[in-house]
Amino acid sequence: MTVEERLQDVRSKIAKAAAEAGREPDSISLVAVSKTFDAEHIRPTIDAGQRVFGENRVQEAQGKWPGLRAQAPDIELHLIGPLQSNKAAEAVALFDVIETVDREKIARALAEEVRRQGREIRFYIQVNTGLEPQKAGIAPDDVASFVALCRDELSMRIEGMMCIPPADENPGPHFALLAKLADENSLSKLSMGMSGDFETAIGFGATSVRVGSAIFGVR
Ligand SMILES: *Cc1c(COP(=O)(O)O)cnc(C)c1O
Repeated sequence: MTVEERLQDVRSKIAKAAAEAGREPDSISLVAVSKTFDAEHIRPTIDAGQRVFGENRVQEAQGKWPGLRAQAPDIELHLIGPLQSNKAAEAVALFDVIETVDREKIARALAEEVRRQGREIRFYIQVNTGLEPQKAGIAPDDVASFVALCRDELSMRIEGMMCIPPADENPGPHFALLAKLADENSLSKLSMGMSGDFETAIGFGATSVRVGSAIFGVR
């Protein structure tokens, strides 16, 4: 299959999973994860109408997205990888949505840059639902106080929550936990589900799914 055919296939599967969950297909946004792929590999998906993309490294995204955006100015770029506070300025300048707010230091750096640059960035809190020591994210028990810090004290535009369930576990309970935490904190957006489990995530209420290899091929 070509990259356009795989994109179409993922869109059909999203529509089918939405119908099975009794949801509108339009209520789920597809974030096409283009990390590691170069501009020439990404361009056909833009031609096919895809507008929302995810990257996990600031520097890599800086290299390819200014050129691609010249082709389609309405592209929306999401940062889905870990962020160091010394890259906050560059991240705020380039991305529209930052999904990996996961600690106070980075929240403060991002809030400061948003003020300084006057950009309207939307943010997600990354939650470590599996309490994995090697994985980024706020522990579920600390989510409420962290949301309060970001939203009330730092006036960040927090839209939702994001998680990456442990690779070797059934993702369902993790998606359910994220949905519960978002609800308890009055957040409406849920970024959850990747190539292997996006249909499951839609059943648990995902409002965006981050799909890479199923569209662009193996990395
Ligand atoms: C790479 C990545 C994805 C996409 O993974 P696939 O399995 O290729 O769909 C989604 N979310 C995050 C945070 C990633 O780093």
